[in-house]
Amino acid sequence: MAKIGFIGLGNMGGPMAANLINAGHALTGFDLSADAIDTFRGNGGDSVATATDAVTGMDVVVTMLPAGTHVRQVYLGDDGILAVAKPGTLFIDSSTIDVQTARDVAAAAAEAGMMMIDAPVSGGVGGASAGTLTFMVGGPEGAFARAEEYLNAMGKTIVHAGGAGNGQAAKICNNMILGISMIGVSEAFVLAEKLGLDHQKLYDISSTASGQCWSMTTYCPVPGPVPTSPANRDYEAGFTAAMMLKDLKLAQDAANTSGASTPLGAEAAQIYNLYTGAGNGAVDFSGVINFLRGIS
Ligand code: NAD
Repeated sequence: MAKIGFIGLGNMGGPMAANLINAGHALTGFDLSADAIDTFRGNGGDSVATATDAVTGMDVVVTMLPAGTHVRQVYLGDDGILAVAKPGTLFIDSSTIDVQTARDVAAAAAEAGMMMIDAPVSGGVGGASAGTLTFMVGGPEGAFARAEEYLNAMGKTIVHAGGAGNGQAAKICNNMILGISMIGVSEAFVLAEKLGLDHQKLYDISSTASGQCWSMTTYCPVPGPVPTSPANRDYEAGFTAAMMLKDLKLAQDAANTSGASTPLGAEAAQIYNLYTGAGNGAVDFSGVINFLRGIS
């Protein structure tokens, strides 16, 4: 049993922390939200009043925060958590953040004598609750080996993607594919409608032909062909358009700083920017098909 500090007990962090408790670990948590703390305590966690209290004396610390600015603020500086942890503490940051922040914080952790991995996830709130998340991990081999036990308590698929920041790199590359492919599949259905081609017929053909992809066969943006897709529940999220926009922007930032050419990624970011700007941030990202139809 390890003593684990957990900072960021929101929609994802809450159930992830609960799975660590269920695996027999002693959890001490901190969040700015009183509701998040209440839920955590209800699940058997012990809450403290500050982030540094959640780190003092811990073997392992997990953070699940909204964005890179929060991660920098919590980890770095004189009152950051790296300054108070005992040397050798393992830090697991599962927030989805920019690659540069992940690398900067990992370097600061190493300098302070800590072990650290970036370990962003896919699988959403459902995967967090069921303990079936996919973890994409960046960091040294030794830190990855030590973290595996804890990641296995929260997820099903754990992939070591390379050095510091490579977990974040994998996450934004994957989600750039997803954002582009969802728009591509949606455009095909919109064109099919104009041409008098039935949704189910297009699905039956493309799902077994070269147009096959996850956005078609698992998350189909029209109701009917895939009964479990959000299109069948009026695009209730799922994975919100705001989250997709966040990840596409992170991909564009990384493309700009690294000099990668990603014209379709840029266009997808622009489309999701317009879609969320029209009041659809909380809608599932597959609802972008309505935007392409011009009806949202
Ligand atoms: P959330 O907003 O529900 O939770 C974030 C929590 O962090 C909140 O409870 C907030 O109060 C807390 N927080 C913010 N600043 C803090 C601070 N300084 N100290 C302590 N607590 C602080 O967000 P979420 O949906 O749980 O997402 C968390 C991360 O996971 C994000 O980076 C997101 O991109 C990523 N993610 C989310 C999903 C999803 O489906 N929700 C899927 C994959 C990845």
